[in-house]
Amino acid sequence: MQDEVAELARRRGFLWQAFEVYGGAAGFYDYGPLGALLKRRVEAAWREFYLREGFYEVETPTVAPRAVFEASGHLESFSDQAVVCRQCRNFFRVAEREEVGEGQRCPECGGELEDAGEFNLMFQTRIGVPRGGGGRGAGGDEKEERRKSEGYLRPETAQGIFLNFPRLLRFNRGKLPFGAFQIGKAYRNEISPRKSLIRLREFTMAEAEVFVDPAEKEKHPRFAAVKEKRLRLVPSAEGEGKGEEKGEGKREGKGGEEGEGGRGGEEKGEEKSVSVEEAVRSGVVANEFLGYHIARVEEFLVEGLGIPRERLKFRQHRGDEMAHYATDCWDAEFFSERYGWMEIVGVADRGDYDLSAHSLSGGGAGTPNVIEPSYGIDRIVYALLESSFYEEQVGKEKRKVLRFKKEVAPVRAAVLPLLKREELKKKARAVFQELRAAGMFVEYDESGSIGRRYRRQDEIGTPFCVTVDYETLEDDTVTVRERDTMKQVRVVVGEVKNVVKLFRDF
Ligand SMILES: [Zn+2]
Repeated sequence: MQDEVAELARRRGFLWQAFEVYGGAAGFYDYGPLGALLKRRVEAAWREFYLREGFYEVETPTVAPRAVFEASGHLESFSDQAVVCRQCRNFFRVAEREEVGEGQRCPECGGELEDAGEFNLMFQTRIGVPRGGGGRGAGGDEKEERRKSEGYLRPETAQGIFLNFPRLLRFNRGKLPFGAFQIGKAYRNEISPRKSLIRLREFTMAEAEVFVDPAEKEKHPRFAAVKEKRLRLVPSAEGEGKGEEKGEGKREGKGGEEGEGGRGGEEKGEEKSVSVEEAVRSGVVANEFLGYHIARVEEFLVEGLGIPRERLKFRQHRGDEMAHYATDCWDAEFFSERYGWMEIVGVADRGDYDLSAHSLSGGGAGTPNVIEPSYGIDRIVYALLESSFYEEQVGKEKRKVLRFKKEVAPVRAAVLPLLKREELKKKARAVFQELRAAGMFVEYDESGSIGRRYRRQDEIGTPFCVTVDYETLEDDTVTVRERDTMKQVRVVVGEVKNVVKLFRDF
């Protein structure tokens, strides 16, 4: 994060390093009161978006028995190659394709790196007590029992949806296509998490799984609604559509720490701006279902959350960076001033991999395919913080602002008595109670000068300040100040909620 945003996020209660009293642990963050509100609003907007698309929501456990990940391929394939520094003993993740060559040096101390083998990224745990107690010197049978009690924290939320596919299909009266989603925690024991909310060991995912008959992937029933939308696409050189000029497709790696953050910016695939329809017709995007969901992802990020369109693009994975389950994958990447291009959403065509892996075809003719938009909620929160922040000179003062869209702003409005006089405070508290009673999360603040209180609300992205002054006592009007323009209008108290068009929170 730009240092100033990071500092603001800490100071104002958005983000805190987890376990700090015990020295912290890399890859874990606490959301403070404002961060938690912001994150909930992103999740709520996401849930509403996919419910409107007609998807079903489910919620499944975050721990699963070994058998699930044996079948899904995660035990075998969900791993990263690591190197270790001979000097400081720090481990680093080797990005795909990169040689663990002699020339590379430790990014921390400049020491020599050596190969440390592959690490599975799942957290292992135990479910219950294995029969026989699991003590030392266990025989063959007991080993088997212990294996059966092995559990893993899920590395993605998707598996819980796949396992329910036959039941969901019945729930949908046996008809394809349909979609299901869940929002929840997932866990990856990353080798070297170092980048704020970008690479966490515990994080929140919002994943939607669309089940579709493979014969119908070419025709999405609502394709017309998105086909003219223009997208910024970076196809991988190898996946390039027919007759297109090939990009170089080679990445200029920067060393052991290089991960998905920043990787896309160095991709040499040719960037193009095309309509969704052109992208599908020319074969750049494999089918209408995939094209449709890429377009919806963009719509949600830009129109739903207010992430600037010019800081987004979709980049196709090369064959060698694709997850073991994917046949095609496009990442929505956000341009971070600190980390370069970074993935915030992945839209994958998982083919029939998952349902076949779990032998869950649903009893139909063929095995349905899965199209999956998978959102990293924490990364999106990061993108919102970074892209909303700006500073400007107002008179002699610097004003820091988080320009959140109203829909995601943690605090909807602040009610402020102009002066710390009893009669003004009393009236301001009454206005505050009225807005809270109407279901809006608003704040009341009477400490410090009015200018300072405005700055404080600007800093946390509150869209409106409602100020109670002496005129209020005479004619029951208040001043409503808008955050970005700083314009003020006089409004009758009863009309405040209509003027600022706030949202119900409870
Ligand atoms: Zn080192």
